[in-house]
This record gives sequence, C-alpha cells and structure tokens, in this order.
Amino acid sequence: MTKNIAVIRGDGIGPEIVREAIAVLDRVADRFGHTFAYTDVDMGGCAIDKYGEPLPASELQKCLDSDSVLLGAVGGNKWNSMPGHLRPEKGLLALRAGMGVYSNNRPAKIWPQLADASPLKKSIVDKGIDFIIVRELIGGIYFGEHKTEETDGQKTAIDVLTYSESEIERIGRIGFETARKRRKQLCSVEKSNVLDSSRLWKTVMHRLAEEYPDVTLTDMLVDNCAMQIVKDPSQFDVIVTENMFGDILSDEASMITGSIGMIPSSSLGQTSCGLYEPIHGSAPDIAGTDTANPIGTILAAAMMLRFSFDMAAEADCIEAAVSAVLDAGYRTADIMAEGCQKIGCSECGRLICEAIAK
Ligand code: NAD
Repeated sequence: MTKNIAVIRGDGIGPEIVREAIAVLDRVADRFGHTFAYTDVDMGGCAIDKYGEPLPASELQKCLDSDSVLLGAVGGNKWNSMPGHLRPEKGLLALRAGMGVYSNNRPAKIWPQLADASPLKKSIVDKGIDFIIVRELIGGIYFGEHKTEETDGQKTAIDVLTYSESEIERIGRIGFETARKRRKQLCSVEKSNVLDSSRLWKTVMHRLAEEYPDVTLTDMLVDNCAMQIVKDPSQFDVIVTENMFGDILSDEASMITGSIGMIPSSSLGQTSCGLYEPIHGSAPDIAGTDTANPIGTILAAAMMLRFSFDMAAEADCIEAAVSAVLDAGYRTADIMAEGCQKIGCSECGRLICEAIAK
C-alpha cells in the first residue's frame, strides 16, 4: 500500500522525535511491503520565522492533500511575546479547524513496565488504568469570541463558550461508538449545575443514549471527574467531554500513567485523514539535547496506521517493539528507574526499529 503522510516537525524537540517516528515507519514499510511518502509542512514557530504566520494556506493545503498528518510539537519561548494571532499555537488551532477534526482521542493506559512511574499509590494503580478521553476539539470556549474591553480605566476580558446541538451530537456519537468497541461504559463530563452549554450537552447525550442501549451512560460534573481520575481511575472506560474540560482532564490523565512523553493522540473528523501527535508540547527546556522521549510520537504513528490506514498488524508490531524495548530495561530520562539503562532519543528510536526488524 502507498500512503502520503504530511509531516510537521515543528519546534523544540519536534524535529528530533518526528525523525525517530519516521525511521520506525520506514522500518514497518520495509517489513510489510508498503511505501510511505512524506511531505514536509511548516507550522508553528518555524513557519512564523519563515512566512510571518503560523500556518500559511499553502501548508494547510499540503495536509488536506495527504492521507494523514504526523505532528511533533510547536511553540517555544521565542514566540511567547507575539500577538495572539501570531502565536505558534494558533497554527495548531487552524490546522484542527482546517482539517475538520472535531474529535481528539487520548488513551490513558498504564504500561506495566512503568507502573512505578505513576504518582498514584500502588493500591490504586494495581486496580488498572485503561481509559480513553474523547474530547471535542473545534468548538467551545477556545473557538468563541475573545476580547478585552476597557471602560473607565478598568479592563474586562471576555471569552465566549458556545455549543450547538449538532456539535454535541457528532462528538457524542464518537463517544458512544468508542465505548461500544470497549467495555461499553461512557461517562459524559460537564458542568450542568452552572453552565447552559453543559445542560444542553447533557440533554443531547441522553437523547443519543436511546440509540445505544448496549452502552451504559453516566454523567459526572467536571470537578468531580478531576478528583475521581486520581482517586479511582479504574472506574473509567470512555470519557466524553467538551474542549476545555477535555484539555485539562486529559493532561491530568496523562500524569497518572507516568510520563507525558509516552502518550499519543489521534484527532479525527468525517474522513479517514487524521492528525496524529504526541500529547506533549515542544519541551524547549530539553530541545537539542537528545534526551526527549520519542515513544509518544512513535505510538502516534502506530495509531495512524491503525485508525487511518487500516494497518492493525503493523500498528501491533510497533506497540510490541516499544514493549520489548521497555522489557529490556531501556529508558529515556523522563521514565528512568533504578536498575534500568538510560538512553537518548535517537538510541530509543534505533532500538525500536531493531525490535521491528526481528
Ligand atoms: P511541554 O509538554 O512541552 O513540557 C512539559 C514538561 O515535560 C517539560 O519539562 C518537558 O521537558 C517535558 N517533556 C515534554 N515532552 C517530553 C518528551 N517527549 N520527553 C521527555 N520530556 C518531555 O509543555 P510546556 O513546557 O508547557 O510547553 C512548551 C511549549 O510547547 C509551549 O510553547 C507550549 O505552548 C507548546 N505546546 C505545544 C503543544 C503542541 O504542539 N501540541 C502542546 C502543548 C504545549
């Protein structure tokens, strides 16, 4: 099979981790007889430097013309003082909106080899952590109007939170469908005791539930959910929530599984062309030191094979290779533990490639 992959290396550690993910994809292509062609796309700080904007239309078009997009990370201190519309993160929001990817799916799963890296008590971890957060990605407060007004010398900042029934319904369906393929438990998270948008969210979820009688739907307020994720994460199978709540809860969920360097995510819309990336940022503090953990990006590439290219065996092969490298005791600095051997980003990629070739 031939697939065209748009590659956004981005800023900070982005180019280092993407390089390793591409090496892994090439190894998979060799082993399974595929051809992966890569088109480089500039986005984020590097695009601001080159074109004066974080995602020029021509770069977005390259992504739309591809079979899927692999992204490292964007952003860094250099661009922090730029005006809002010229921040690297704006490129990310424009990419998601341009691709129409409205659903972000993030697994929170503990690798048994890294159970000690979880900050939670062993008694909690031992009950198992294996859930997915399905987050609405292109609506809500991040996409509403933002403005700051000044009256009588006093500034007031306004951010608008809007959700329509159809926006809620399409993400709700992804939540139900995802739960259907797993343990059939869907937890809808909102703040319906305070927000109108959450009350509509809850109404739509319960209306949808009638179409999915095999899935058990529960409701949880977002503040309670934040507590339950650390108190008893084993209770969750699939969580579905709106954009900002999902942003915060998915970062919390990533921490309880160990390092954010290990976690991939996928963003999908109506087509099979998805956006695949690690959940972390550009980590400017370690950029260029060959210490970044490339596994989140490598597992994002595996998700791309599984969900966009229908290559389940190839994805399994990458995940097994990651597991084998962890089993052999190799660890990047962020997941280093006593008795293990510390390796850098490029060595980690090389070992995973070696495990795939076997
Ligand atoms: P970050 O995720 O980049 O880093 C947080 C901490 O985790 C740092 O100590 C970093 O060294 C560490 N870390 C992150 N990824 C790692 C990896 N693969 N291996 C080892 N350690 C890793 O978050 P931040 O510091 O808040 O943000 C840095 C920049 O990234 C900012 O400009 C932010 O806007 C941007 N950002 C981009 C994305 C994205 O591109 N999707 C996401 C979040 C943040």
